Amino acid sequence: MAHLELLNVKKSYGSVNIIHGVDLDVKDGEFVVFVGPSGCGKSTLLRMIAGLEEISSGEVKIDGKVVNNIPASERGLAMVFQSYALYPHMSVYKNMAFGLENMGLPKADIEKRVNRAAEQLRLTDYLQRKPKALSGGQRQRVAIGRSIVRDPKIFLFDEPLSNLDAELRVAMRKELSGLHVELGGTMIYVTHDQVEAMTLANRIVVLRAGKIEQVGAPLDLYNSPDNLFVATFIGSPKMNIIEAQVASVAGAGAELTLPESRRMALASGGDKLKAGRKISLGIRPEHIDVAADGDIELKVDLAEQLGGETYFYGTGPGLPQFTVREAGQTPRPRGESARVKMRRAHLHIFDDAGNALLHGCA
Ligand code: ADP
Ligand code: MG
Repeated sequence: MAHLELLNVKKSYGSVNIIHGVDLDVKDGEFVVFVGPSGCGKSTLLRMIAGLEEISSGEVKIDGKVVNNIPASERGLAMVFQSYALYPHMSVYKNMAFGLENMGLPKADIEKRVNRAAEQLRLTDYLQRKPKALSGGQRQRVAIGRSIVRDPKIFLFDEPLSNLDAELRVAMRKELSGLHVELGGTMIYVTHDQVEAMTLANRIVVLRAGKIEQVGAPLDLYNSPDNLFVATFIGSPKMNIIEAQVASVAGAGAELTLPESRRMALASGGDKLKAGRKISLGIRPEHIDVAADGDIELKVDLAEQLGGETYFYGTGPGLPQFTVREAGQTPRPRGESARVKMRRAHLHIFDDAGNALLHGCA
């Protein structure tokens, strides 16, 4: 298993820059997830690590050695794609053994590796089947098995679960987590699905337009996003954002002006704020309470009863649509008013450039 470093890695196609200088250190045995909107460069970056895409400048190092000019086949990595393209005429066993046979490994060694991977992936009973006689999840496990048998230094996954239905995706997600614990390998996993990123990663790398926005443990990104992009990308439903202004700073606290001249008092956080500055207030749906002394009044547009929890969506003059999560089954008829209070301890404040000023105040 291996340690991976990216040093100011850039990629351009002709005059178009796609990756703008990425620095990243992936420790041995770490599960790192690249997440970001479609087209932000996740696959390109992964393919540059794999050796399938030339690096325009910067360095990719594996175990301290620069591999920029080492061909993909010699980097000792294994890649699993979204379209896993198994050989339809070959059995599961043969699909997994094929690459090893091409490498010229002894038959007994191949057998041992394939059988072990099959056991880890619960495919032992299916080794003689053809791919068409397998479920989608089993096929994807064969594709993963094909990479495990090669005993790679690093596993690279590019949206491997995107073609599976929702239920299967959740099941495979759990299996991948388990597999990482069992194999202990260094894994880099690309997805546009932030729930997958939250559940799989030791560390998440949030990418946007070829740049890293933030790197951190899932809950660190959730609790302390560095900027508005990360704040609204991580978390589902999204964090609510209101445009506001600092009316005054007094002592430890401050007073904010929300749209339509609403006022909101903070008992702390004044040291991070400057009177007159425009800010964005962020609050997650689960950090809002319906309360008589609430900060804003919402008119309910829609309520979603999920059984264990209720989400309602409401608007008020000058406000974007707000999402509020309540525990349990609370009726919220359309058109009804609800005053809501933002829990100060979970308030996020961003400056007018979208950078975080503070997370949580009183
Ligand atoms: P993601 O995987 O995050 O969806 P990609 O890495 O596939 O994004 O693509 C990043 C950007 O690079 C996109 O804007 C895409 O159009 C562009 N791109 C990818 N491959 C090429 C190529 N061969 N030539 C020119 N542009 C490309
Ligand atoms: Mg992609």
